[in-house]
Amino acid sequence: MSTASTSADLRELNRARALALVHESASLGLTRVELAEQLDVTRTTAAALVTDLSALRLITESVAAPTGRRGRPTTKVAPDPDGPLVLCVEVGHGHLQIAEMGIGGQLDNRAEMPLDSDDPQQAMERIDEVIHQRRSGLTRRCAGIGVAMHGLVDDHTGMVVQAPYLGWENVELGEHLRHSQGLPVIVENDATLGAIVESKLGAGREEHTMLYLRSTVGVGGGFTFEGKPAPSRRGWHGEFGHLPFGNPTERCRCGAFGCWEIAVNHIALAEAAGLDVRNGDANALAVEVFQKAAEGDDISSKAVESTCAILGRGLGSLINAFDPDVIVLSGHVQSLHEANPAAVIAALKDATMTAHRESLPPVRSGRFDDASIRGAGEMILTELIASPSVLLAPPEDAS
Ligand SMILES: [Zn+2]
Repeated sequence: MSTASTSADLRELNRARALALVHESASLGLTRVELAEQLDVTRTTAAALVTDLSALRLITESVAAPTGRRGRPTTKVAPDPDGPLVLCVEVGHGHLQIAEMGIGGQLDNRAEMPLDSDDPQQAMERIDEVIHQRRSGLTRRCAGIGVAMHGLVDDHTGMVVQAPYLGWENVELGEHLRHSQGLPVIVENDATLGAIVESKLGAGREEHTMLYLRSTVGVGGGFTFEGKPAPSRRGWHGEFGHLPFGNPTERCRCGAFGCWEIAVNHIALAEAAGLDVRNGDANALAVEVFQKAAEGDDISSKAVESTCAILGRGLGSLINAFDPDVIVLSGHVQSLHEANPAAVIAALKDATMTAHRESLPPVRSGRFDDASIRGAGEMILTELIASPSVLLAPPEDAS
């Protein structure tokens, strides 16, 4: 390796480290002196890095408020508000969300729209159309796309291996978007992304290990250690909704019998309250059950209680399996727990081994209702920040 390429590599590495620090510290604020200290470089090197990244329009520098300490005033470094951003997309059964995220991790302009067709080709065209529309209105440069997918995903290629509610199998979503948008694209399972965000920034932030459970129509989750999902063979872990904690005679869309998710999701709750979900919006019906239960309606309260018991039994089994420091719930399962925590905890206790019962992990509500789409932005942004020259590269196919 030549000296020139070594110093170029070192420069790229230092830029990446500085940018990652500015990204992670955006909400707290960061001075140039702190940047030097945390990167363990001299103040001269830090000043050169800041000048470099400012010239690239990735960060800005301004005079920091006086600290009262002696010496020259330092300057504050922050993400450039006109710098590049990434688009974050969430794809679920019947709906689609899109938002923007710049360096610093603020999620902006989140919008939801219907995804009318489950047909993979038509759905991918619709996703493309929504992304194109959003990109055409941007004043900042779009550097990449992160997708949170409700289904099993091959992390390496972004292929959707199985999405039971959309009826997708082996759909090349990542490849399709990379080609049509000419940008770096990552696709990841929605619950895995939610787990990463809650463990790094949310309700599991202070804990070593976290068990995360998120429910829309399906129920997925993840087990994290120090902010990262536990590794697995192909990344197809955390499909807790397809554990057999449900009725063993009932077949799930995933192909298995007795899945937990079809016994606890919003359809199950509405059915437990005697509502006909065939022609209605099951999500709206579940909200109705929660409301009626809160008003003291007997049938709705019993439906909530029995569904909470099924949720609790499963959570107790997961405590036996994972022994987590905390359980974090998001979406419909969070609403269930909030509606009747005592019913969840009673069933949870009954399902745990005696040794666990003296000190059960707390069950908390997630901090972010947008954890998955937020995670999609964080993941692509983290990847781009690790190589700032890619972050600054023009799109392959200007669209
Ligand atoms: Zn299943």
